Amino acid sequence: MRSLDSYSDCLKCGSVINDSSLLVPDELNPGKYRSLCPSCKHETMRTPFPPRSLRPVFEMIAECAELNRPILVLILACTAYESMFDGLFYRILERQHVFPVEAIADGIEYRSKIRIFHNLTGKRFESYLGKLGFKKLHTNLMEIKRRRNGFIHTGVAHKEVEVKLGLHSGKQFCFPKRVDLDQSDSERALKFTLDIIHCFARLYSDFGKYAEIESYDY
Ligand SMILES: [Zn+2]
Repeated sequence: MRSLDSYSDCLKCGSVINDSSLLVPDELNPGKYRSLCPSCKHETMRTPFPPRSLRPVFEMIAECAELNRPILVLILACTAYESMFDGLFYRILERQHVFPVEAIADGIEYRSKIRIFHNLTGKRFESYLGKLGFKKLHTNLMEIKRRRNGFIHTGVAHKEVEVKLGLHSGKQFCFPKRVDLDQSDSERALKFTLDIIHCFARLYSDFGKYAEIESYDY
């Protein structure tokens, strides 16, 4: 999880940049960071990315993966994704001056937020992920969510796999079988978590600029 210490977010231009040397402690504001932004070329305040408030969830994911507790890694990975997505959604509303942000965003389900994302940005979320090189992020999310929900409703951490029965008249026959989650699920969820960090760094950057407010002459 070294990625937790390398990205930072420029408070002026919204560029999220993967360079730990930009997190220079601001002597005048203890606990804050300030440096020359390579993107907007101003000396600006920077905040760590992912946001500090989400650091514990990412750390818990790494810890549970190390302990080989796949279901916990899956549950936490979904939480990390949902929190990062909500942060992106808030960011877009705020930076496009759509207020009040909380009243609009709270209580809306994920699919509606995806539709509003399209309305506000003109981009289809899933295709946009593909453009950024994270084509499988959404499919992986859905698979992880399915296993998480299965556990939440049954208390049993399992997955369905296809077992090959062999060839019959030249055709491969398979049947579905339920098996326990294993280390490969932890590893995949951990990889998914790293993808979340890299992918949302791009998304937060791409939609990080404040829209200019048009002024009218009367
Ligand atoms: Zn900047």
